[in-house]
Amino acid sequence: MSDIQSKDSFKASPFKKLTAVKGMNDVLPGESAKWEWFEGVVRTLMARYAYRNIRTPIVEPTALFVRGLGEVTDIVEKEMYSFEDRLNGEALTLRPESTAGVVRAVVEHNMLYEGGKRLYYMGPMFRHERPQRGRYRQFHQIGAEVLGFQGPEIDAEVILLAHDLWQAIGLTDVRLELNSLGQPPERLAHRSALISHFEKHQDALDEDAKRRLHSNPLRILDTKNPAMKEVVETAPKLLDFLGEASLAHFNALRQILEANGVTYTLNPRLVRGMDYYNLTVFEFITDQLGSQGTVCGGGRYDYLIEQVGGKSAPAVGWALGLERVLALLEEQGKIFPDDSPHAYAIISDASHLPLVLSYLRQLRALGVKVQMHAGSGEGLGSMKSQFKKADSSGAAFALIFGADELQQNIVSVKPLRDGGGTQRTESLEKLNEWALSLQSNS
Ligand code: ATP
Ligand code: MG
Repeated sequence: MSDIQSKDSFKASPFKKLTAVKGMNDVLPGESAKWEWFEGVVRTLMARYAYRNIRTPIVEPTALFVRGLGEVTDIVEKEMYSFEDRLNGEALTLRPESTAGVVRAVVEHNMLYEGGKRLYYMGPMFRHERPQRGRYRQFHQIGAEVLGFQGPEIDAEVILLAHDLWQAIGLTDVRLELNSLGQPPERLAHRSALISHFEKHQDALDEDAKRRLHSNPLRILDTKNPAMKEVVETAPKLLDFLGEASLAHFNALRQILEANGVTYTLNPRLVRGMDYYNLTVFEFITDQLGSQGTVCGGGRYDYLIEQVGGKSAPAVGWALGLERVLALLEEQGKIFPDDSPHAYAIISDASHLPLVLSYLRQLRALGVKVQMHAGSGEGLGSMKSQFKKADSSGAAFALIFGADELQQNIVSVKPLRDGGGTQRTESLEKLNEWALSLQSNS
């Protein structure tokens, strides 16, 4: 197709329309109200668990991810948006996840100096994946990271936090899958067994798996290729290689979860996509989003801090995909809180604007969400057209500031929704006595 669609459209707009980058989405009002509501619930819950917010840069040195996530991982091998700094040639990457960045910040600012830290973050991540429902190139994560604590009680705490979050937003039908990856020596023994298993079944492996057979055989268990289901299911299980200490840690975690009514299934093939995990790994999964069913994943990463150059310290955390959680809520018919204004101000004459605007500000200071009518042509437009705008604004009430009303220091309050009662007048001198009555719809 040519760039110039037709002679007329060329005249009207000489430039080709620009669109967002593939796999990167605008979040428009209406949709963004859901995001803000969800983020608000998260903030409240995080505060109740005494987790504090951390904000790290979106761009990090590429080396952080290569070292942190592991060279032989999907993210580092094929999903990173990397570029060179145009001045000094430094290799930089748009963060594909936030755990590595948080760990870098914790180390850089010596944050574990006075003991452990409970942190959370929210923000965009970038991965060069094939865009599809639930899988984007810019997507958004909310994550919890706890650094400096070793015991299973903290693994339990982060899982309970996620569990409580699902409850707080009314999300149902997410199941928890749990596994333990043990410690490096246990992994090593398992690795040998894994390699021999896969060597015996070479013909069942795809290209990725063949390439990773000796460099990172554990990663093969994380395959999304259905054709490899059987060879993965029959592979040696890490759980069978765990020693006493690892098992004790895992069992203590399971006990706390069970005592708190958190049901889970053991999934011995759950390994997660990054190399930094040890001991506990877990995912919250739904069957209602097709193949993009993992809404939240995490685990323990006791060796990452050292790998990023810090003094060795244990850590555990998770990240959830905001788009997937909201899509799932939508799928489950969630009614999101209404973000329409409480009231729409109709103003009969432009000469009253200075006075009316001062009343609107007083109402806002009292907590009322008020949308002011603004003219789209010359002047403010007819009362009829203003009422139309009031209706389509979604407001529960129209506040009518007419010349007569203002003369008497009153305003007419007209309900716009069914069941809102009859029109009444209220005093402009005693706004505080009736402002609250406008807020009943939120
Ligand atoms: P998947 O197996 O679906 O690729 P992942 O293991 O790569 O997920 P993590 O790196 O653990 O995902 O990220 C945590 C969560 O972030 C995921 O459970 C998912 O909800 C979300 N997520 C990951 N990648 C994307 C993406 N490209 N688009 C949207 N959400 C994503
Ligand atoms: Mg992935």
